[in-house]
Amino acid sequence: MKYLMSNFSRVDVAFTRGKGAKLWDSNGEKYIDFAAGIGVCSLGHASPVVIEAINTQSAMIIHSSNIYRVLPQEVLAKKISNLLGYQTYAVFCNSGAEANEAAIKMARKYGATKFESKKYEILTLKNSFHGRTMATLSATGQDKFHPEIFAPYIEGFKFYDGIDEIIANISDKTVAVMIELIQGEGGICPLDKKSVQKLAKILKEKNLLLITDEVQCGVYRSGEFVASKIYGIEPDIITFAKGLAGGVPIGACVARENIFAPGEHGSTFGGNHLATSTANAVLRELEYLYESGELKKTTDEFVENLEKIVKDFPNFFESHTGLGLMQGLVLKDSTNLSILFAECLRNGLLVLKSGSKTLRFLPPLNIKKKEIKAGFEILRKTLEELQD
Ligand code: PLP
Repeated sequence: MKYLMSNFSRVDVAFTRGKGAKLWDSNGEKYIDFAAGIGVCSLGHASPVVIEAINTQSAMIIHSSNIYRVLPQEVLAKKISNLLGYQTYAVFCNSGAEANEAAIKMARKYGATKFESKKYEILTLKNSFHGRTMATLSATGQDKFHPEIFAPYIEGFKFYDGIDEIIANISDKTVAVMIELIQGEGGICPLDKKSVQKLAKILKEKNLLLITDEVQCGVYRSGEFVASKIYGIEPDIITFAKGLAGGVPIGACVARENIFAPGEHGSTFGGNHLATSTANAVLRELEYLYESGELKKTTDEFVENLEKIVKDFPNFFESHTGLGLMQGLVLKDSTNLSILFAECLRNGLLVLKSGSKTLRFLPPLNIKKKEIKAGFEILRKTLEELQD
């Protein structure tokens, strides 16, 4: 497209409408959606809950400004704290990268004000992904995100292979460790629970911060409201985005301490009435899905299908990986990743790639049984065609 910059290598398909986990393109072709806009459309497409929230709120007020109180923002901040089960203080923004930017600034302020000598270093994992802004790119450990063309990157980040190496390298400059409990772009890799708990304990003893980036794995994607719950930890700072408002742009960064003073951080759009009231409605519905056991049933069904695929197509797959409805199939031959992505799409199924050899699945959290069945039929058909 002549008028768009070429920063995305887009597939030549344009979706024009959807319903649940079904999508239709501009030619009227139907697809099953196991990607949910990269984990964003947590209640699927054209969800009555999201439509109702947007319609009701936009008929009243979409935006005023953070100069004034924003009531649905206050409701959302309290809801997140209640769901976490401990007091947190929230700042709202518009994306995952911005939520992580806020977390980084909070850590910097904490390091500058809580200790006798300033601490500013944030340790992250080499296989991490934390966003595309300059600071979050600098926090991202994967080398491929640090091309020379964007240098110099922001100082103060160090990357390590694993949690044990992070622990071994905590220095008197270290203020925080930032991790994705389930690495989303790095191949759907859940971190080891015992190592994470050990890290959390050590950081607590040293009064240093644990930041969990739950932009992809948070908001019930892992099966719990936050993956931190599965890991049995209570991080000092948690970031959210993607699925929080079912497709309306939003990001949130919550901390156990009220770190920022007036004027130290902000966003024009962040947490406006439309985004936060939609998030409130989405969270109510997701909480119902969780409490009623529906989410668990859907997850079991989905994972069972993935396991069968691994068993029936051993030439293609090594294993399945992931938690909740954040799942991946690890390929034996990485050259099949792009082929499978393209062939699934051609046959009417949206899947995603992650890392170099993981086929990623982030379906809507309310995907129906018959949509799961239809999607896996397409995946099987695609694999059979490729096998021949
Ligand atoms: N952190 C994680 C773990 C992510 O998966 C992503 C996006 O994929 C981001 C941060 C960046 O989020 P956004 O693209 O909304 O800025």
